[in-house]
Amino acid sequence: MPVFYYDAQVFKVYQVKQLLDDAHIPCLVKNDFAQGAVGEIAPLDSAPEIWLVDEQWRPKAQQLVDNFLAELQSASDAGDWVCGECQTDNEASFGICWSCQSGRE
Ligand SMILES: [Zn+2]
Repeated sequence: MPVFYYDAQVFKVYQVKQLLDDAHIPCLVKNDFAQGAVGEIAPLDSAPEIWLVDEQWRPKAQQLVDNFLAELQSASDAGDWVCGECQTDNEASFGICWSCQSGRE
């Protein structure tokens, strides 16, 4: 049973888990340190992983995750942007960088 989904950003892993739960796709989370001791720092390789209980669900699960990641991407595209010249964060409503006046790319 190979790992299905992994991300160092834990919130993404749990959102994917929720997606699969909503679709009634049997899966489980491994390396779940949410119940760990307070102040304990999990090593980098211990971020949660999602495993499919049955591989037959993989195509459907993959489709859900692809859609989810595409939505995340378009949401961030519509939001704040980073100046290509000076790497400054700009709000979505800004047409040019407030810091160096470069145009938005
Ligand atoms: Zn700039």
